[in-house]
Amino acid sequence: MVDAHLEELARLEVTSAGHTIGNARWEAGNVRDVLDYYAGAPERLTGRQIPVPGGLDVTFHEPLGVVGVIVPWNFPMPIAGWGFAPALAAGNTVVLKPAELTPLTALRLGELALEAGLPEGVLTVVPGKGSVVGERFVTHPAVRKVCFTGSTEVGKRIMAGCAEQVKRVTLELGGKSANLVFADADLAAAAAAAPAAVFDNAGQDCCARSRILVQRSVYDEFLTLLEPAVRAFRVEDPALDTAQMGPLISAGRRATVASYVDGAKVAFTGSAPAGDGFWYPPTVLLAGSPAERHWREEVFGPVVSVLPFDGEADAIRLANDTEYGLSGSIWTRDVGRAIRVARGVESGNLSVNSNSSVRYWTPFGA
Ligand code: NAP
Ligand code: MG
Repeated sequence: MVDAHLEELARLEVTSAGHTIGNARWEAGNVRDVLDYYAGAPERLTGRQIPVPGGLDVTFHEPLGVVGVIVPWNFPMPIAGWGFAPALAAGNTVVLKPAELTPLTALRLGELALEAGLPEGVLTVVPGKGSVVGERFVTHPAVRKVCFTGSTEVGKRIMAGCAEQVKRVTLELGGKSANLVFADADLAAAAAAAPAAVFDNAGQDCCARSRILVQRSVYDEFLTLLEPAVRAFRVEDPALDTAQMGPLISAGRRATVASYVDGAKVAFTGSAPAGDGFWYPPTVLLAGSPAERHWREEVFGPVVSVLPFDGEADAIRLANDTEYGLSGSIWTRDVGRAIRVARGVESGNLSVNSNSSVRYWTPFGA
């Protein structure tokens, strides 16, 4: 059902969230694939048989009942799917709250679920404010688990609220992921891939590699290679097949992003259309030290900060000097170093010589 409406869902996301059409097609396809993947889960939710003195102990996986899924605006479709598909496959019913700014694709998915034959009330999409609908998932005793993706600040409140009823909770929060480029790396490949690793979805991505750490001996060379790649990044009408980046989600987000660039040292920027839309050009900042605000805080926009490092231990120390730990990348040709640094960097997942980290069949989160 989702596959048959893939183009419609993708177009809806372009209109609603300003995602590029290429990304939006991937996102709708991801919902289809996640549903497909979890369609095989019910038969595999086996329990255990444990021999005990005088008999046999048998365990079952039981549904919890109602699961509340709270979704942010940055990836409305995939994040909804990662929540509702496994919850439904485990025999639960789901109440799903999309973000106020981006409810349309979730509502459409709810309609498609009914058309596909899901009984009414099994997947219910409840749009509304976080402080009203989201909060109610936390306080309502019938909701036995809350699955939340969003900011650390709200996540903490949800966790505290769930504790009141000893309610299960899963949190996926923010990120300030490091992209570590060692001198022995294929610098051209690392530089060519770095813009998409942070500017995809206009940087509104929890996995954005928004801190680039470059070994000092190749710092200038890397920046020289990065500049043309950033300038070539296509920021344009997201409905165009060629678009690599669209506008930001809102005027408020654009103002917040701009506040990180004000007073910072700009190395170079890409371009963005003028006129209507919350446009912001891809921007590369040079961090004078790890104390700078744009280096420390999640910008959640098309802004990347670059800082040099002096060797492996320094790279690991700087990468770990953050309260986040979601994802990241390591660029090196030395396999031993790749493994050592991957073990040293405290992050939920890391990629070597690649920037991809989101797959529904491997663990994700931190
Ligand atoms: P947010 O403000 O925390 O909102 C996320 C969701 O929570 C929205 O649906 C929001 O509703 C709702 N909400 C707000 N206040 C609430 C409350 N008191 N009780 C219950 N629900 C409440 O986050 P955001 O600014 O939209 O999203 C950006 C953040 O999400 C970033 O920090 C990003 O890193 C993180 N993120 C993490 C992942 C991951 O997988 N780790 C993925 C994507 C995004 P309304 O907006 O409708 O009010
Ligand atoms: Mg918010």
